[in-house]
Order: sequence, then C-alpha cells, then structure tokens
Amino acid sequence: MPPGESTRPVQHRRPPAAAPVPSVTSSGIPIEVRRSAKRRRTVNAAFRDGKAVISIPGHFTTAEESEWVQRMVARLEQRTAQTRRPDPKNLGDELAARAAELSRSYLGGAARPVSVRWVSNQNSRWGSATPARGTIRLSDKLQGMPGWVVDYVLLHELAHLIEASHSPAFWRLLESYPHTETAKAYLQGAAYASARGLAGAMGEDQGAEDTDEEGPGS
Ligand SMILES: [Zn+2]
Repeated sequence: MPPGESTRPVQHRRPPAAAPVPSVTSSGIPIEVRRSAKRRRTVNAAFRDGKAVISIPGHFTTAEESEWVQRMVARLEQRTAQTRRPDPKNLGDELAARAAELSRSYLGGAARPVSVRWVSNQNSRWGSATPARGTIRLSDKLQGMPGWVVDYVLLHELAHLIEASHSPAFWRLLESYPHTETAKAYLQGAAYASARGLAGAMGEDQGAEDTDEEGPGS
C-alpha cells in the first residue's frame, strides 16, 4: 500500500486483548498516532518528517488503535523494504541518490536512510545522523568542497545508521572508502582555517532519541 493511501478497517466483534500501542517501528522510527473525529471508517499511514504517522478514527478503542497501528506500520515497513525509498518526498534529490550509491558501493547497501538533506543551521558539525530515525543532515558548508570530501561525510553519517558510536566496528565500515584519511585531514584543515562557525571535529546529533553515546577519543 503506498503511503497516503487509505484502507477501510473491518469491525471486530470479539473483545480484543488490549496490547500496548507500539511507539516505534521495528527499525526504530517513531510512531505518531493521530485521532480524527472527522475520520469515520478509514485508517491512513505514511512516513512524514521522519515519523510513521498513523491516522485513525477518533472513536477507535485502545485495542483497535493498537491492532491498526501494528497492521499499518507492518505495511509501511513492507513497502519500505520493497522500494528502499521510505520517503520519496525527502529522497527525490541528488543527495539521496548519492547516499544510495555510496551505501551500495561501500556498505553493501546496508544503510538505508529515511531522509538525507542539506541544512544551513549546522554551524559546528559537518554532518549528523540520527540512527533511531534514519535521518542524515549535511551542513551546506560542505558545498563547494571536493566531491570525495562530501562523499566521505555522507558515508560517515551513513555508517552511523549501522553503528551509532565511533567504535572500531564503525571505522571498519569506512575502511573500503579510499579517501577517508585525506578527507578527515581536509576537513580538519578547513575547520582550522575557519576562525568562526566550525568547531572542527565531526559532531553527531545528540538528540533524545539517540541511545548511543560518543565514546572518548572519537
Ligand atoms: Zn561520526
């Protein structure tokens, strides 16, 4: 079922066991349930803003909510697995295509971001990743740098979707990329040369949804 399409729920007469409504998908994407009094008979599911948004009729019981959220999330994930493009609105650009290519070339296609985008409000970081949401942001300060440098930052953040911390396993993921060391040196030089705005080291998104802490020496 394509995101945004509606499906008509069937009525269940037997009193269902009230399983808890899941709060994240199996891949860790937050689930947001929206109840609508206007919505009478249909349930809708779509990825929006890094979340799986499930819209249900306002009269649903908790048991119905739980059942339909699980069912619709399963369908969303099935579709994601089939297309590998969870959110076409976010991925329909060059950066997303590049991310997919880098993931294929160096990570065996294992990193599948939900969204990849340029941001202009990232002053102290070249890039950041939020593994729990599958989102990647790159600073637009990278624009104009050599392609192999931008690729390195993108690949670095893609690798964080697989390995959240800067563990030895994380750096092993980057070993096959031939420009890792030179790109790190380039970025350090760029940060040094920039008197303001750039702190230097690659930082990561430390949002509440991140469970992995950066280790010392990262
Ligand atoms: Zn990192």
